[in-house]
Amino acid sequence: MSKKINHVGIAVPSIAEFLPFYTDVLGLEFEGEEIIEDQKVKVAFLSSGESRIELLEPTSPESSIAKFIEKKGAGMHHLAFTVDDIEAELADLKAKGVRLIDEEPRVGAHHTKIAFLHPKMSRVLVEITEEKK
Ligand code: ZN
Repeated sequence: MSKKINHVGIAVPSIAEFLPFYTDVLGLEFEGEEIIEDQKVKVAFLSSGESRIELLEPTSPESSIAKFIEKKGAGMHHLAFTVDDIEAELADLKAKGVRLIDEEPRVGAHHTKIAFLHPKMSRVLVEITEEKK
């Protein structure tokens, strides 16, 4: 099954500071912002054809994004692929012995269902995303 890249998440200390690069320099279209309370993160969405760039700004020092920036610096945080059926995909990944951060889907931006795989296998954090139908 082919999987489109849904979005690339980039951790930044400040959306206001880094947004102009994506809009003014690269010419991407800014689609809006959303605060994801349970992840303590503010997300800015930029359209890139069928994919998006998401700028992730921590809203609290407790945010995993804040910890990521502290440890690794700002930069690419995760790569998200679109899946049709996230429950089936998670069951398939479990059957393949893949270590998961999220055993069950959680709610992401735009009311999507998302789950993160452990970065051990890929060295980059991978998310699977089921778009709201
Ligand atoms: Zn994401």
